[in-house]
Amino acid sequence: MSTHLAAEIKRRKTFAIISHPDAGKTTLTEKLLLYGGAIQLAGAVKAKRGRASAVSDWMEMERERGISITSSVLQFPYRGLQMNLLDTPGHADFSEDTYRTLHAADGAVMLLDCAKGVETQTKKLFRVCKQRRMPIFSFVNKMDRPGREPFDLIGEVEHVLGIGVYPVTWPIYRGATFRGVYHRQKREVHLFDAKKAGSSAASGAEVADMIVTGLDDPNLRAELDEQGYSQLREEADLLDTAGDAFDHERFIAGDVSPMFFGSAINNFGLQAFLDTFCELMPAPLPRIIIGGKAPTIAPDDETFSAFVFKIQANMNKSHRDRVAFMRVCSGRFERGMKVHVVRTHKDIRLANPTSFMAQERTIVEEGYAGDVMGVYDPGIFEIGDTLTSGPEFSFEEIPSFAPEHFVRAVMADPMRRKQLKTGLDQLAQEGTIQLYRSVEGLAGDMILGAVGKLQLEVVKFRLKAEYDVDVRLESLSVEFARWVSRTDGLPVDMRAFDRERVGTPCLDVRGRAVVLFAGDWQFNSATRTFTGINYAETAQGQKATKQA
Ligand code: GDP
Repeated sequence: MSTHLAAEIKRRKTFAIISHPDAGKTTLTEKLLLYGGAIQLAGAVKAKRGRASAVSDWMEMERERGISITSSVLQFPYRGLQMNLLDTPGHADFSEDTYRTLHAADGAVMLLDCAKGVETQTKKLFRVCKQRRMPIFSFVNKMDRPGREPFDLIGEVEHVLGIGVYPVTWPIYRGATFRGVYHRQKREVHLFDAKKAGSSAASGAEVADMIVTGLDDPNLRAELDEQGYSQLREEADLLDTAGDAFDHERFIAGDVSPMFFGSAINNFGLQAFLDTFCELMPAPLPRIIIGGKAPTIAPDDETFSAFVFKIQANMNKSHRDRVAFMRVCSGRFERGMKVHVVRTHKDIRLANPTSFMAQERTIVEEGYAGDVMGVYDPGIFEIGDTLTSGPEFSFEEIPSFAPEHFVRAVMADPMRRKQLKTGLDQLAQEGTIQLYRSVEGLAGDMILGAVGKLQLEVVKFRLKAEYDVDVRLESLSVEFARWVSRTDGLPVDMRAFDRERVGTPCLDVRGRAVVLFAGDWQFNSATRTFTGINYAETAQGQKATKQA
C-alpha cells in the first residue's frame, strides 16, 4: 500500500449537515468556508437566492425559484485537511436525493436552533444517519437569541432521537446575554465580544475575536458578574459529576454525539467546534461490500471503487446531459481511467469528471477515497451502481425511502401517452420519483410518489422539457404506501385489495407489489381483512411479484 495513498485518504473528511430549514445551515456552511480560508469574506454561499446562482445554477427552475434542487458537494481545504461537505437540501427541495446523499457521507453535523430543538426534518435525516451508524456532531445554533435551557435541549435530543449527548462546550451567560463557551475537555473559557454580536454590516465577516482563559481567572467573575460566574461553576461541576466521560467508540458507532453551542452568524463557538470536529471526525472507513474477497473494502485498498448516489439530469439544457455523482470508497482515481460498471459488466472510461468548489466546477485530475465527483452520464448509470478498477463486487444497496406525497399524472394531450410512459419510466429509473402503475386487469392512472413535493414539480418540468408532454398533477387521497408480500412466499392476490376496497393495489417501476392507502383506517381494515401479509414501508429488500 502506498504511503501517499494512505496519507491522502487520512486528510479527507466527508460529511453532511443535517437540520430543519432555517436552523442556519447556509450560514454555518459559509462560516466553515470562511474559517477554512476558502473564501475571504462571508458571502459566497449567501442565503437562498445568492446560493442558487453561486453554487448550482443547474436547472432553469432552480434559478426561477432561487433554491437549489439537488445536492452538490463543497470541497475546501482546512488546516491541511480536505473537507468534502455534502449539501443536503432541506426546504421544499427536500427529496430522496437528500437521504441518498447521506449514504455518501462518513459523518454528519446535526444543527439545531436553540429555541426550537429537534424539528421534523432533523428527525427524518437523523434516522438515516442512525441507520448507517455514522458519527454525528451536534451544534446548537442561534445562542445569541433567547432559547431553551441547554439541559432541556440535551434531554430532548436524548429522548426524541435516542442518542447519548456529550457536551464538549457549554454556554456562558451574563444575565440573559450569551457571552461565550466553556470548553470542557480543554478546560478553557472562550469569551466573545458581545458588542460585535448582531452588528449588522460587518457581522460575521471575520473570524471572531475571543479571549481565551481558564475557569479560575479572577477577571471572569467581573466579566460575567457574580450570578453568571457561579452558574458556570455549578453547571461545569454538575456536568463533570453527573455525565459519563466521552466514549470515542460509542461516538464512532453513532451512539453518542458531542455537542457544541454557538452562534454561526456571529462566529461564536465555531473555533471550538471546528477544532474538535477536525480531531474527531473520522477519515473514510472501510465500507461493507457484497460478493468481494472480504466483507469490507478498506479506503486505502489499491483498487479504485466508487458508487453512484445521485443522478442529476439537464444540468445543461442545450445538451440534455446527465451527471452521475459518485462517492469514491477506495483507492485513487485518475482522470481518463478505465473502470468497470458491475451491474452491466461493462468497462467505461471516466474522461471528464468534475468537482464542485464554492463557485466553479473544475475538472478532477485525481481523487481519493472520500471524494465525490460528478461524471458525465450518457445513460449508463443507475443510482446504487458500483464502479471498480478490479474484480467485481457491489456496495450495499442504497435504501429507498417512504414516499409522502402522491399524485395522479393527467395528460393534456392523450396522443402523447407513449411519451409520458417513456418519460415517467425513465425518471423513476433514475430515482427522481417513484412510479406506480395499476395491476393488470384493473383500470387506473399512473400514480407518482415522492418524498418531497418539489420532486413532483421537477417531474412536471422535465416531462415538458425532455419529452414534450404537458402533464397535470392531481393530488390523490393517498397517505402512504406499503410494499406487500405473503409470509408463505406465494404471490399476493393484489386484485383482492381492490375487490374489498381496502386500498389501491399497484406495481412499482421494478414490478414490486405495493398498495396505496388513504389513511390508517383503510390500512387497518386491510390488515383485518387479509392475514399472512407483510407490509413494508419501503421497497427495500422486496422482490418483483408474479401475479396470482
Ligand atoms: P438554513 O435554512 O438552515 O440554510 O438557514 P440560514 O443559514 O439561511 O439561516 C436562517 C436565518 O437564521 C437567517 O436569517 C440567518 O441570518 C439566521 N441565523 C443563522 N445563524 C444565526 C445565529 O447564530 N443567530 C441568529 N440570531 N440568527 C442566525
